[in-house]
Amino acid sequence: MVGAEIKERFLGKEKSRSYEEDILYEKCAVFGVYSPRHMAAPLVHMGLATLQHRGQDASGIASSNGRSFFTHTASGLVSSVFTDENIANLSGHIAIGHNRYATSGGSDGHFQPITTEKNLVSLAHNGNLPEVKKLQAFLKEKYISTRGLNDSEMMQRVIEYHMEQGLSVEDAIKNVYPLFTGAFSLVIMTKDKLIGLRDSHGVRPLSIGKMEDGGYALSSETFGLERIYATPLRDVQPGEMVVIDKDGLHEHQIEKDEEKLDIFEAIYFARPESYFFGRKVNTMRRNMGKQLALETQDLWGKADMIFAVPNSSIPAAAGYADQSGIRYEADALIKDAYAHRTFINSNHLTRAEAVRRKFSPMEEVIKGKRIIITDDSIVRGTTLKELVSLLKQAGAAEIHVVISSPPVKFPDFYGIATPQQEDLIASQMTVDQIKEFIGADSLHYLSYNGMIQAIGIPEDKLNTSCFTGKYSIGIGDNAKNINFAV
Ligand code: 5GP
Ligand code: MG
Repeated sequence: MVGAEIKERFLGKEKSRSYEEDILYEKCAVFGVYSPRHMAAPLVHMGLATLQHRGQDASGIASSNGRSFFTHTASGLVSSVFTDENIANLSGHIAIGHNRYATSGGSDGHFQPITTEKNLVSLAHNGNLPEVKKLQAFLKEKYISTRGLNDSEMMQRVIEYHMEQGLSVEDAIKNVYPLFTGAFSLVIMTKDKLIGLRDSHGVRPLSIGKMEDGGYALSSETFGLERIYATPLRDVQPGEMVVIDKDGLHEHQIEKDEEKLDIFEAIYFARPESYFFGRKVNTMRRNMGKQLALETQDLWGKADMIFAVPNSSIPAAAGYADQSGIRYEADALIKDAYAHRTFINSNHLTRAEAVRRKFSPMEEVIKGKRIIITDDSIVRGTTLKELVSLLKQAGAAEIHVVISSPPVKFPDFYGIATPQQEDLIASQMTVDQIKEFIGADSLHYLSYNGMIQAIGIPEDKLNTSCFTGKYSIGIGDNAKNINFAV
């Protein structure tokens, strides 16, 4: 049985909490284009649309025609932020763009790319700096106000400061790099250069593509490159700065590469079409499903069908079906194709109501059946609690829940929108208690080693902190609030 007190707390939260109360961690998309022949903004626009899954709060593009900067940013999806006219006004052969994901709503004004009226340098950031003490101290020392500035804006200001002092952008970045302590994949633009920069652990991805016209593109994910017909060349290495200008691509390894790619990119964030370490994300997720099937063979004789919580866990469900021989049902659970903003901007809906609006179980498929349902992860437990109850209403005879990753016990500080630790259900309850809480007949998580094996990236190249509490980059004072013993 779930301890009444814990259960009460989780249920109570669901009733009272709205999305507005969430803390602000951002998982975002960045994109950049340097084209010797074409206008860059339409390509960046296409790239941002392809990376919409990484952030739906706000979007923006900044461009340069060699003399001036042009920018357009607003709240909302890429399709609503830009009109043809907006794009046409973003002149020039260099452009950078950003999609923002922030759980607290998109209207607080911190739009990206970040440019000031000085028009020296524009910057877009994916990631998060868990601690900005060094940045703040530096800016204060130079009498630059940090009031109201977030981590990304401070990074822009310190680069700009050094450029105002007469440094080249390359030297400015090398100078300030030690002040950037955290996760950052940046695209940066000056009047005549496009720059890509990654922290030495490369927690957030960033790839380089070569365009047919001789230009280059930078994208959070390889599939963004493919969408604009650029050929993925390689990643910006962790600790590396690449500078693209009229003479081509210049490489500067600023710090040693100690890669720790966030494992959640493979589990949930990235598009299935993208590649990490030369491996396709869809394949990794299918493998996770196959491995999960191997680890839960007791269920094979107990189920009439398997299906996914769409869309992120479809590959895992397909892999599970493949391995177990259990029939995969594609239409057991329909996801509203236009409910993409469930997690944000729904201040009047509780999370539970949002889940109920997003998913409809098909009674004619489910009624009287023993079902296995997959999801990629359990964060608060809301999605599965609501879904299990909907599936019961639809007449499911038995509901077995399988999760294609281990329990998420530790919050993220590197650019993911996870809640604080006490809201992560697996940090508060045992697997059996979670099973009771969501109302399932059984609950199984993929083992940690099974996950690593299925992903196929060496474990020492991954940041696994959300499962292990091993934070690859120092999280400063935040560590005081973490219970590492869960
Ligand atoms: P829960 O309802 O348990 O809080 O969240 C689990 C669901 O959220 C899963 O269906 C998973 O696909 C999704 N999910 C996992 N990580 C994230 C994230 O960082 N952001 C958002 N928006 N969804 C996530
Ligand atoms: Mg999901």
